[in-house]
Amino acid sequence: MTAPNLIDGKAFAESLVHAIGEEVRELRAVNRIQPGLAVLLVGADPASEVYVRNKVRQTEIAGMKSVERRLPETTTEKELLLIIEGLNDDDSIHGILVQLPLPRHINADRILRTVLPEKDVDGFHPINAGLLATSGKGLVPCTPLGCSLLLKDRLGDLSGLHAVVVGRSNIVGKPMAHLLLRENCTVTIAHSRTRDLPAMCRQADILVAAVGQPQMIKGDWIKPGATVIDVGINRIPKEDGKTRLVGDVDFAEAVKVAGAITPVPGGVGPMTIACLLRNTLTACKRINKLD
Ligand code: NDP
Repeated sequence: MTAPNLIDGKAFAESLVHAIGEEVRELRAVNRIQPGLAVLLVGADPASEVYVRNKVRQTEIAGMKSVERRLPETTTEKELLLIIEGLNDDDSIHGILVQLPLPRHINADRILRTVLPEKDVDGFHPINAGLLATSGKGLVPCTPLGCSLLLKDRLGDLSGLHAVVVGRSNIVGKPMAHLLLRENCTVTIAHSRTRDLPAMCRQADILVAAVGQPQMIKGDWIKPGATVIDVGINRIPKEDGKTRLVGDVDFAEAVKVAGAITPVPGGVGPMTIACLLRNTLTACKRINKLD
């Protein structure tokens, strides 16, 4: 039986992809426009391969055009820049995603800055980061956007709640904090230098864990009734020699204390891909002046 305080990210993401698919169908029928997403993968990182396969499949399910470019590990930075510039100029492509990590000989910052901000569906371009920080109309990184949708669905108005975000990366922690601020939360950002992290977490009405440390956040770090969003994806060994996925929160302990909590897997992960499709649709509508 599913615990009543479980936030089912998988089901929410499925309904979001369905709704996006409906909008895509209408856009194609009425405006003769098909949103297009290009995903670039350099090298053969097995985890990245799985992510890219998933992204391509979901893009097609939503009725969008999907362009997948798999490039060899030996691709030079210049070659990759030329491909991105070609996609920037391609009117049938509205979203460009460069799968990270890139091989070490390629400067990831330079690559991400070359993607047109209007087509930057990952929301990593400094222009989009700046627009988020100044409450402008840019594209928002997918994972924090997914967390924010789950929180609003569960809690409704977030105004006045104290949110503690553990982690300050550019792709999760910082944009998450800005989104929560936009929802009128009182926001604290914690990180590896925070003093007395458990006490800090215990103050949170909303606790977002984006740390990359398996099961670090314990049940007694959580205020009873708080909403916990676990962004972490960590692979740990099992006794039988295989591995399993766990989050940054000790789920077995936390589920007994939290008012609501996302599981790993099946929580934030599926929302990330759904929000990638949402960003592609948003980018397409804005490029075509329909939004
Ligand atoms: P980063 O490694 O870039 O950032 C981790 C952050 O956690 C840093 O700010 C770091 O602090 C902080 N941190 C690390 N250790 C501690 C500690 N012991 N106490 C307090 N803070 C700590 O990771 P990401 O933000 O990229 O990812 C975080 C997690 O989310 C990972 O598990 C990743 O796999 C997962 N992830 C999941 C996604 C999804 O789709 N569900 C998408 C993206 C990420 P400092 O800055 O001081 O070093």
